[in-house]
Amino acid sequence: MKLYEYQAKELFRGAGLPTPKSALAADESQIEEAVNSIGAPCMVKAQVLHGGRGKAGLVKKADSVADAVRLAGKIMQKSGAAILVEEAVAFRSELYLSLTPDAGSGGILIMASSAGGVEIETLAEEAPEKIIREIVPINRGLMPYQARDLAYRIAPEAYKPLSGLLMGLYQLFRARDAELAEINPLFITAHGNLVCGDGKFVIDDASGFRQPAYLPGREHYESEAAFEAAQEGIPYLQFDGDISLMCAGAGLTTTVYDLVNYEGGRVANYLEFGGPNYRKAKEAMRLCLKNEAKVILVVTFGTIARADVMAEGIVAAIEELKPDRPIVTCIRGTNEEEADRILKEAGLTPLYDTEEAVRTAVRLAGEKEGAAR
Ligand code: GDP
Ligand code: MN
Repeated sequence: MKLYEYQAKELFRGAGLPTPKSALAADESQIEEAVNSIGAPCMVKAQVLHGGRGKAGLVKKADSVADAVRLAGKIMQKSGAAILVEEAVAFRSELYLSLTPDAGSGGILIMASSAGGVEIETLAEEAPEKIIREIVPINRGLMPYQARDLAYRIAPEAYKPLSGLLMGLYQLFRARDAELAEINPLFITAHGNLVCGDGKFVIDDASGFRQPAYLPGREHYESEAAFEAAQEGIPYLQFDGDISLMCAGAGLTTTVYDLVNYEGGRVANYLEFGGPNYRKAKEAMRLCLKNEAKVILVVTFGTIARADVMAEGIVAAIEELKPDRPIVTCIRGTNEEEADRILKEAGLTPLYDTEEAVRTAVRLAGEKEGAAR
């Protein structure tokens, strides 16, 4: 979960880190109000998830309110994104600061430099010695003396507020299960104060249940089904054809996807119903039924995920959901004889050959109405 700059800065603010006064304009109608609430000079910054906005012309400084309104409109149009309006900081220097997990040591890697700003990648390549690297052992945490030492090495004139900021950022990083916390630039103002000029924050996807406020919302997904699949933990991709795939394993599902296309059919959705999800036939079928597809094609090859359990799940799902479209099954693997019996008993016609199953699904999808199971 990659946060937008304005979200990262909300977190920073909540943790007591100094951030500029700011206002967000989510659409054109909010630009004037946002600019007026901040005044000039101000920065207008596109809220996109990729870096390098400065170089791409998506971050601009405006010296008057009228300029800011004009620039914000322009950048919004160019980026198609919300605009963060912030009071401009008059700075003396730009620092770089980041925290990431370090796979090698198992600790948290702090990188810091007195030469932050938009050229940090070049600096990393051409003068890597100007970027200080410190590992914080995770079971000990960042100690105040380590923070002071680091702060003193990159900004002796501001080492006190900087070591405090480091401690705060480290705690925030741990509390939010972060994979990245980066402040670049971290301004030192003319008065020797610190201000977070930018903010990048990435939360570990696996900790969604601990950080529910930052789970991507419905607007990040192509369809209701894709959104619900994500909540359910079912791998799902949205397409617009008429054959819903309900297959086991990424490799097999991708192969079936290709076979469907090879046979002249089109896939409505890719859905992996296997591995940890092999008991979720009902949830999987419910997702497939959200599409206006003509057929559901179930192809699985179970080893630990038992074929009979999947067959039972399919039968129970059919009884409960009463699908209005044919279900083609090719369920193989552990206990497939039992699966075969379960499917036949429920009145289905199990198939045993993947390509035959694909051809059957493509044929049924081609028959307009009244295709039988
Ligand atoms: P990025 O390019 O996507 O990382 O966007 P940043 O938010 O880091 O902005 C890019 C550059 O714009 C910074 O490195 C600064 O040089 C400049 N900048 C950002 N905020 C301010 C500000 O408040 N005042 C001034 N003068 N420059 C700023
Ligand atoms: Mn930046």
